[in-house]
Amino acid sequence: MDLSYPPEAEEYRSKVKAFLADNLPEGWGGYGALDPSERDVFLKSWRETLNDNKLLAANWPAEYGGGGLTNLERVVMAEEFAALGVPTAGANDAFSIGMVGNTILHWGTDEQKEEFIPKILSGEYLFCQGYSEPNAGSDLANLGCKADKDGDEFVLNGQKIWTSAGTSANWIFVMARTDVDQPKHKGISFFLVPMDQPGIEVRQITNMAGQNHFCEVFFTDARVSAENVLGGYNNGWAVGNTLLGFERGVGAATQHLGFEAELGQLVELARSTGANEDPLVRQRIAKLHAQVQIMKYRGKQALTRYLAGKAPGPESSIGKLFWSNMHQELTECAMDVLGAEGMTGYGTETRGGLGPPPIGTANTPGNWMASFFIARPGTIYAGTSEVQKNIIGERVLGLPREPRADSGTWKESQANYK
Ligand SMILES: Cc1cc2nc3c(=O)[nH]c(=O)nc-3n(C[C@H](O)[C@H](O)[C@H](O)COP(=O)(O)OP(=O)(O)OC[C@H]3O[C@@H](n4cnc5c(N)ncnc54)[C@H](O)[C@@H]3O)c2cc1C
Repeated sequence: MDLSYPPEAEEYRSKVKAFLADNLPEGWGGYGALDPSERDVFLKSWRETLNDNKLLAANWPAEYGGGGLTNLERVVMAEEFAALGVPTAGANDAFSIGMVGNTILHWGTDEQKEEFIPKILSGEYLFCQGYSEPNAGSDLANLGCKADKDGDEFVLNGQKIWTSAGTSANWIFVMARTDVDQPKHKGISFFLVPMDQPGIEVRQITNMAGQNHFCEVFFTDARVSAENVLGGYNNGWAVGNTLLGFERGVGAATQHLGFEAELGQLVELARSTGANEDPLVRQRIAKLHAQVQIMKYRGKQALTRYLAGKAPGPESSIGKLFWSNMHQELTECAMDVLGAEGMTGYGTETRGGLGPPPIGTANTPGNWMASFFIARPGTIYAGTSEVQKNIIGERVLGLPREPRADSGTWKESQANYK
């Protein structure tokens, strides 16, 4: 198997390396190696550097302030950044640029692109994602947050939950019910809603790692202009799914790097405690090593699809299931290696974000405890493991579909929840 890249990709790689050498602080050891109190300041100025160099929305067309990179260049850039533990974006950008920005470019009117894209890039508009509700997670189409038309505006009433980065956002993209008499996948519209208004209340939820990462968002007669419906009235299901497609892109090609670094820390930890002499620990580490290698080569497979311009497809559920289980195994192994010390929380740094810790993070019991906690919801967000298994069973293996309980309109289906 030839995994080498064409010469033009290697040429671009040299440019990225030069950019990083010229712009990163001296002695750069990864974002995780920065003093936690300096991280926010660094991220803010680094975001500006990326934007000034057209690398913040690297794949967006130049006319919208992007870098106009080809898919291959984008992958090369992601690889070089990931290898050195360099952030590719700032706070909320996963939602603002990666999700809704891309979706606005796909579905938006010229006026919407003109209004939102420059302000997303400048960091003036910071988005969070308002999809999940207490009765609508895996079954997202069951959502009940309502938007009623009132002249040139819609009035929103209802609740969203698990809204990541809700307190640092000033805009929220919301899927809301605009017609209760349609079947549940229809009668939904997609709104771009300003959060700085009296009808919106954001309440933080503290998770078991002590992070206030996600929130509940309550809408009580909140208002949004009809001009902020994205992709057309009652077309929110299609728009919402376009957005979810952007969740899994170039990431697959570089994802193993973070886990590889974390596994390296586990090996270091096992050596320092002597657990590396324990045959059972050795066996677990060997299995994790094999899993990281599988992730790497599966990433190459996903990359091939991506470069061929194909959508990730239902096979991407295998990757989601795989990494989330592996991360739990890895962090459980670390906690076993640490023994009672793992419960001390010694050397904990506050870190946001999910997945493996940023490269350079100190190898301390407290940081392992945080990773152990952070690995738990990995099998829930971005689609639960059970739902991934359904997708793999039905759409990859061709097994019979699970019975669908709902029929009729959304209003009729609510009888199931009483
Ligand atoms: C860290 C984190 C961050 C998140 N961030 C956001 C965010 O920013 N914005 C947002 O909108 N949402 C966010 N979410 C919510 C996330 O999308 C949902 O938690 C997820 O979709 C699951 O929905 P649920 O929690 O309602 O669980 P449910 O859907 O109620 O599932 C409960 C259990 O039933 C199982 N189950 C459900 N359906 C089936 C089925 N058909 N077959 C077999 N088993 C099934 C599930 O696997 C699970 O074990 C976040 C969640 C987490 C954990």
